Amino acid sequence: MKDVNIQELRQMCYRQSKIPGEFMLQLRCAGNYLDAKWLEMVQYVCQTWGNGQLHIGTRLTFSIPGIKVEYIDEVNEYIAPYIYEMECNICGVEMDTSKGYPYIGPRNIVACIGGIHCIKANINTQELAHKIEKLIYPNPYHIKIGIGGCPNDCAKAQFQDIGIVGVTKPVYYQDRCIGCEACVKKCKKVATRVLEKNDQEKITKDMCCCVGCGECVTICPTGAWQRQDQVYYKIFIGGRSGKQFPRMGKMFANWLSEKAVLQIIERWPEFSRWVLKGQAEYLHGGHLIDRAGYHNFKKFMLDGVELNEEALIADNVYWDEQEYRSNIHLKNIESHPNVN
Ligand code: SF4
Ligand code: SF4
Ligand code: SF4
Repeated sequence: MKDVNIQELRQMCYRQSKIPGEFMLQLRCAGNYLDAKWLEMVQYVCQTWGNGQLHIGTRLTFSIPGIKVEYIDEVNEYIAPYIYEMECNICGVEMDTSKGYPYIGPRNIVACIGGIHCIKANINTQELAHKIEKLIYPNPYHIKIGIGGCPNDCAKAQFQDIGIVGVTKPVYYQDRCIGCEACVKKCKKVATRVLEKNDQEKITKDMCCCVGCGECVTICPTGAWQRQDQVYYKIFIGGRSGKQFPRMGKMFANWLSEKAVLQIIERWPEFSRWVLKGQAEYLHGGHLIDRAGYHNFKKFMLDGVELNEEALIADNVYWDEQEYRSNIHLKNIESHPNVN
C-alpha cells in the first residue's frame, strides 16, 4: 500500500474508513437537487472503485465508501465532469476540477425542496444555495449552512452554523376581505396567533410576532392576503450538535433582503480567518462566534453590508447550552457542581 496522507485526503473530501487503506468519497451537491443522469455516474463509482454501497450523507452528500487509496487519482479524474457541472456551471464557482475537491471545510449546503415543489415555500432554496456555494467554496474554513423555504424549517436551519429561512410579509387588501376568519383560525392552529377580527369585521395583525410563514395567504378564499414579490429571510446562528455544548441556534436577523443575506455570508471566511488567526481548523461556527463574542461577530459580519430598511438585527443573543451538557433534565440540579 502506498504512503497515505490522511489529512490531505480528508481535505479532498475522502474520509478515512475503519478499514485500513479505504476511504469514503463525499460528493457535494449544493441545494441537494440535481439532474438524475448523475446517478449513473455515482453508481459507476460505487461499483467500480467502492464497495458497491452508497450512503446518502447526513449533509445530503453522495457518500461512497470502500474506495482504496490507490484508486483515488482515478476516481478524481472520473468525477471531474460532475464537479465541473455542480460547482462551476451551476454555482459559478471558480476552481480546478481535475484533481477532485480542494477543500472539505465548507460543508455541503443543505436545502429543502423549497419553491421548486413545495406549496408552503417562500423562496427558491436551490438558487440561494447555488449563490452561497460561490461565496464560500473553495475555502479552507469550516461552515455548515442550511436553508429552509419557510418557517417549517425542514432543513433544520436552527441547528446549523448559519441557518437561513425564507419568509414573506403578506399584504392585506381589506376590500377583498369577507371576514370569514379562515386566516385567523389557520394562524392560530399552525403559527403564532397574531390575527384577530376587529369590530369592523376586518382583520388586525400583531406584526411583532408574525413569523412570515404565509399560511394566511394560502387559506384565504378571496385573495385578501397576498404575498409580495419581495421575499425576506431570517438568519439563525450558532446552532450545533456534538459533544461540546450542543445547542439550538438563535435568531441573528429577520426580514433581510437576499442582497443583505449574501453580503453577510460572504463575510464568513474572513471572519473565520480573523478569529482563527489564519489557521483553518475544524470548529463549529458557534464556537468561533463564542470566541469572538457576539458583539464582535455582529460588528464584523455587518461591516459593509447594505441592510434593507425592514431588516432587524439581534441586539444580543442569550445562549442556553448548559442544559444539555449537564443533564439538567435527567438529574437533580444539586448533583451538578459545574452548573451555576
Ligand atoms: S421548509 Fe417549508 S418550503 Fe421547505 S419543504 Fe418544508 S414546508 Fe416546504
Ligand atoms: S381568510 Fe381572507 S377573507 Fe377570510 S377573514 Fe381572512 S383575510 Fe378576510
Ligand atoms: S404569515 Fe404566518 S404568522 Fe404571519 S399572520 Fe400569516 S399565518 Fe400568521
